[in-house]
Amino acid sequence: MQLELNVTPIEKWLTKCKKPIIISGPCSAETEKQLISTAKNLAETGKVNLFRAGIWKPRTRPNSFEGIGERGLEWLQTVKEETGLLVTTEVANSKHVDLCLKYGIDVLWIGARTSANPFSVQDIADALRGTDIPVLVKNPVNPDLQLWIGALERINAAGITKIAAVHRGFSSYEKTPFKNNPMWEIPIELKTICPALPVICDPSHIAGNSELIPMISQKAMDLDMSGLMIESHIQPKAALSDSRQQVTPAQLNKIIDELIIREANISNKKFKGQLEQLRNVIDDLDEEIIQNLSLRMDIAERIGEYKKANKVTILQITRWEDVINKRLNMGLAMGLSEEFIKSLLQLIHKESIKRQTLVMNIPIEKAAVAETGGAI
Ligand code: PEP
Ligand code: MN
Repeated sequence: MQLELNVTPIEKWLTKCKKPIIISGPCSAETEKQLISTAKNLAETGKVNLFRAGIWKPRTRPNSFEGIGERGLEWLQTVKEETGLLVTTEVANSKHVDLCLKYGIDVLWIGARTSANPFSVQDIADALRGTDIPVLVKNPVNPDLQLWIGALERINAAGITKIAAVHRGFSSYEKTPFKNNPMWEIPIELKTICPALPVICDPSHIAGNSELIPMISQKAMDLDMSGLMIESHIQPKAALSDSRQQVTPAQLNKIIDELIIREANISNKKFKGQLEQLRNVIDDLDEEIIQNLSLRMDIAERIGEYKKANKVTILQITRWEDVINKRLNMGLAMGLSEEFIKSLLQLIHKESIKRQTLVMNIPIEKAAVAETGGAI
């Protein structure tokens, strides 16, 4: 499948931008002071192309901070005047679009909850008709590429050609290290079927915490994404929304400085370098191993809960012997050494026992005997 969109290259509307395009600013505009000081610090880095701040916040539960509304548009105007940065905010309906146009907001973005709803996207598209304001379309919360494409098509059909997609990960019931599962294959597929469409990664909403942002940003760059949207706050811990995932402007500066930007051009020697390619594979495999270990520990805990409910001991020798033998045979057949498999399994098993012991609320020392037993 090919996706036919009429796209104006991003370099034409995000002036000053060099790769990667950086969009940054707080999750939410909270006060004029917070907004302006964050923007000034970001502008000083010289690395930010577009300043973001949400003023209408789609919160999962009511009674959370739902944004400061129209007043924030005036603050964004001040940011523009005082820093020269272009500004963007989230719109979820036609009323928001009209207000943003009235206040001279430079770029709009459609949030993940809105792009999952074709009625809302169409309402926004209708309000955009006749303008040429750029629009960023975040992926819908659910992993549905067609729904994302549909939102891009609706906006494009309203005559907006300055468009880009924003990959912010997908909700998942399964536990992953991320707040929103990246499912990289989905933005990759989007880029493949529509190479002209810029795809920007939002590591903040994928990660849900600031520690994972550098790793996700690097991965997005390695996948040749056009830019990054990273939430920043003058005082992240005090943020009224998404406080765990925001970084200070200084941290943002460091994250960008440390990025390795590889050339996507296949003829580029560095990109072609076998070592680089093999290291990328190792990185992916290690990430998978860690995700799987985390899942495995969750299951071990669930087994612990089950054993507790049924008054069964942690220790089950036959099960453990069975596990060791099966894994050992498999590992040996795949060229791994007996010593390596055994020590790896013992380490995993020890951690499983620890987790089950916590679930069963018994002191670890007393459960030490179980180390030879099957906590799985
Ligand atoms: C945001 O960017 O602050 C936001 C609400 O994002 P998303 O729509 O991706 O959840
Ligand atoms: Mn946010």
